[in-house]
Amino acid sequence: MAIAIDPVCGMQVDTEKATFTSEHEGTVYYFCGKGCKLEFDDDPATYLDPGYEPQGM
Ligand SMILES: [Zn+2]
Repeated sequence: MAIAIDPVCGMQVDTEKATFTSEHEGTVYYFCGKGCKLEFDDDPATYLDPGYEPQGM
C-alpha cells in the first residue's frame, strides 16, 4: 500500500484505492475526491507552489 498526499487539501490518499487522479507534467497526483481534483485541474500551479498551504483539514 502506498500513500500519497492530496496536494489540494493535504489529506493522505491510498494510491491503490484512489479514484481521482490527475497527471501534470509527468507526475501523477492523487485526490481525496472529485472536488479536489477539479480544483487542481483548474489551476495546478497554485497547488504545486511550495508556498501553498493545504486548507482542507
Ligand atoms: Zn482533498
